[in-house]
Amino acid sequence: MTLRRTLMACMAALALPLAACGDQADATKTDGASGERVLNLYTARHYDGDLQVYAAFEKATGIKVNRIEGNPDQLIARMQAEGDASPADVFVTADAGALWRAQNAGLLQPITSETLTTAIPAALREPGGHFFGTSRRARVVAYDSTKVRPEEVDTYEELASPRFRGKLCVRSSDSVYNLSLVGALLEAWGPEKTRQWVEGVVANMARPPEGGDRDQIRAVGAGVCEVAITNSYYFIRMDRSTDAADVALTDRVKLGFPSLNGQGAHVNVSGGGVAKNAPHRAEAIAFLEFLASPEAQVLNSEQNNEFPAAVGVQAPAGVREFEGFTANPMNVSVYGRRQAEAQSIMTAAGWR
Ligand code: FE
Repeated sequence: MTLRRTLMACMAALALPLAACGDQADATKTDGASGERVLNLYTARHYDGDLQVYAAFEKATGIKVNRIEGNPDQLIARMQAEGDASPADVFVTADAGALWRAQNAGLLQPITSETLTTAIPAALREPGGHFFGTSRRARVVAYDSTKVRPEEVDTYEELASPRFRGKLCVRSSDSVYNLSLVGALLEAWGPEKTRQWVEGVVANMARPPEGGDRDQIRAVGAGVCEVAITNSYYFIRMDRSTDAADVALTDRVKLGFPSLNGQGAHVNVSGGGVAKNAPHRAEAIAFLEFLASPEAQVLNSEQNNEFPAAVGVQAPAGVREFEGFTANPMNVSVYGRRQAEAQSIMTAAGWR
């Protein structure tokens, strides 16, 4: 069964409490035969390369990973329904805004790990130890280099300017990626300027929001828009692709890194936290520590084109070429706190 089909099977299975996903082990069997160490991983990451990271963890530690998949809100609802009896050990997902939702629902416990606090910069983890970013992505701009000069997209303000009226593509406001971006803008600018920016973005839309980030990049290539807001790894994946259409696309469409208040591009994370009632707490911490290790950092970057989060780890060739941008130092736990405010501003402005 392919990962995609497994995921679809999982989505269906999530309707049933404690149903195992596809060919994965049953998370209710918290301990294997003959004292085998296990870990119940609730993951909302949707990237095929993650399986290699989990396999490397199993090989390095001897801890078997029982994988339960769903989107963040499905997994959070499932953990809430399971309550104190939840077998969840670790919750992993893309976007600090989604990690915050789990924390805000009381589903994560704070941990202390010198390994994690040494490896992961303070800006990329929740200050109380509830979650840790283990890879970085920037939410930036893909632009048509035949129509747009790089200096026209080197600030976030420019995306909302009349220069791009009817020329911007972006996905819907229910994407946590966009909620986190607007949350960061709120933190940096306050509500009035952020509201004006959101209204400018809505006015600039070339079409009503549809599809994911890759669809926005392709729309730039197809001439539907001149600029698109996207997470960096979707573009880098196309840039590294040998597919003829992707090669032609990235010949013309380039990735720009706007700066927020002169302090660099908006950076988000994928990461995880230890579940509140983790039956295998030590294994859960070991898993997060493994994700922060140079081996897992490079493997994930190679597989998913995200940037490493750990101090001193360089991205592999192909990703490294994009890594030199200035990263905004805002703490990633801010985005979640601003999420409700971001959503209401976006909804009021008609960003559907
Ligand atoms: Fe993504």
